[in-house]
Amino acid sequence: FSEKQTMGFQAEVKQLLQLMIHSLYSNKEIFLREMISNASDAADRLRYEALDQPEIYENDPDLKIIISYDKDKRTITISDNGIGMTKEEAIAHLGTIAKSGTKEFITRLTGDEQKDAALIGQFGVGFYSGFIVADKITVETRKAGTPATEAVRWESTGEGDFSVETIEKTRRGTDITLHLREGEDELLTNWRLKGIIRKYSDHIPIPIQMEQDIWDDETKSMKPGTELATVNQASALWSRSKSDVTDEQYKEFYKHVSHDFNDPLTWTHNRVEGRTEYTQLLYIPKHAPFDLWDRNKRGGIKLYVKRVFIMDDAEQLMPVYLRFVKGVIDSNDLPLNVSREILQESRDVKMIREGSTRRVLSMLEELANADEQEKKDQYAEFWDQFGQVLKEGIGEDAANKDRIAKLMRFSSTHNDTDIQNVSFDDYISRMKEGQDKIYYVTAENYAAAKNSPHLEIFRKKGVEVLLMTDRVDEWMLSFLDKFEDRELVSVAKGGLDLGTLEDEEEKKHFEETQTDYKDVVGKMKKVLENEAKDVRVTHRLTDSPSCLVVDEQDLSNNLQRMLKAAGQ
Ligand code: ADP
Ligand code: MG
Repeated sequence: FSEKQTMGFQAEVKQLLQLMIHSLYSNKEIFLREMISNASDAADRLRYEALDQPEIYENDPDLKIIISYDKDKRTITISDNGIGMTKEEAIAHLGTIAKSGTKEFITRLTGDEQKDAALIGQFGVGFYSGFIVADKITVETRKAGTPATEAVRWESTGEGDFSVETIEKTRRGTDITLHLREGEDELLTNWRLKGIIRKYSDHIPIPIQMEQDIWDDETKSMKPGTELATVNQASALWSRSKSDVTDEQYKEFYKHVSHDFNDPLTWTHNRVEGRTEYTQLLYIPKHAPFDLWDRNKRGGIKLYVKRVFIMDDAEQLMPVYLRFVKGVIDSNDLPLNVSREILQESRDVKMIREGSTRRVLSMLEELANADEQEKKDQYAEFWDQFGQVLKEGIGEDAANKDRIAKLMRFSSTHNDTDIQNVSFDDYISRMKEGQDKIYYVTAENYAAAKNSPHLEIFRKKGVEVLLMTDRVDEWMLSFLDKFEDRELVSVAKGGLDLGTLEDEEEKKHFEETQTDYKDVVGKMKKVLENEAKDVRVTHRLTDSPSCLVVDEQDLSNNLQRMLKAAGQ
């Protein structure tokens, strides 16, 4: 069984590798950050597993990462004593991309390096980034708690296949050796590697060590020594005080926890004291992930208890409609052996979730209500990426419904654009004398909404109408019949009551028309007996001769269409 086996990469891996090597080259230093990030994750997982199996520490409890290089062999090695991998895990984790949406992602790549670099960054490529600088990667790894003879060597030139074979390895964990491509020798100095580590990985909570160069009196220059020294600060970033953390460090930490290559949009960092004590460091990404709409998608919060990593994707810590939030929550009160089941029941968790939800909403309000253009732009960017998800909160989070409603943005007849940038407050500030309701129309898309015949009377009267065209709008509106004390009214429903917006003369004219057209309406009702419930004279229209409306209590046209499409 120890024979060397060769296996093919999953098709997506092959494609991704080629594209990544070219498009990320200008940012090649990130390979080291990705390797260190994985080593740190492996340490987190080991510490967690060891909570109830302390023997897997194998008398080597000081978790750390060691970076070394060999000028003659032209290699860089990243070693950790984390959880390690079995052969099956190495095959699965290093030969395939388990992330959902990978296929779709690949089809979106264009071949244009600049555009693709941005896309790839969004996707997060992790381990494979090693191939940007290496033409061969050797991984030697042994899972904690397994015999030294059951370690594995994984090796690949990143071209289409990889090999695995069983080897012997005494030290637990993973050594990753990058055999550098021609021309990458500039990476092979102590100060260069140290510089990269400080820049990208200072926040890693365990020591990252390198052998220190020492002064050589003979050659009057520095030469590699054997004494290890720690390069990073090696303390959990979220446990430091805000004033000790730079924006750059916050950003790099984000990339580590989110597996995103891009900077975050914004973040919030707080220590919460009171009935339950915890620290939260929560980020809003710049871009929606590919699997934002995946209903089974796990959350983006890592749970720690007193600095010990407990689990990724602790979905109980954030409501579903904030599933795009990434970051860390570190509780002082939860038990270390907390399971997903316990999390579901825990009152502490409930309080943490509520507190974190409020934090995220305040963070968004800060952008949404800011005077600075930069923050306003950031909110627009946020809304563009995540607005539709936030709208789910109207139905999901009754307690914060009003705050969420204030954060919503719509397109509207006031602006001639499909950009959603009108808030309820904007709308109210422009309401006509005598108008007491908020009018909206729902439609499948912006063009359909904008050209809806239902809008004619509103145009004539200069009354603004919100154009609701997101899939979630109908559902959202079923939970939102009012904003503050103003009723939300669909312009397509029932006998439209424009209230005091109508003047006496118009009312009289309308009544006269109704009498005049009584016969015509009667005939039409007969003809349309099976198609229409009722035929009415309307004052809604100015240009179109007729339009379809639904009764107040009936499903709206758009929702009917959606249900039909869904086969209901
Ligand atoms: P991600 O970190 O987003 O999961 P990566 O491509 O960086 O994706 O890594 C893929 C997987 O390979 C990891 O999820 C992990 O299971 C495994 N892996 C990579 N490096 C290590 C390591 N040093 N120790 C243990 N497992 C590792
Ligand atoms: Mg990774």
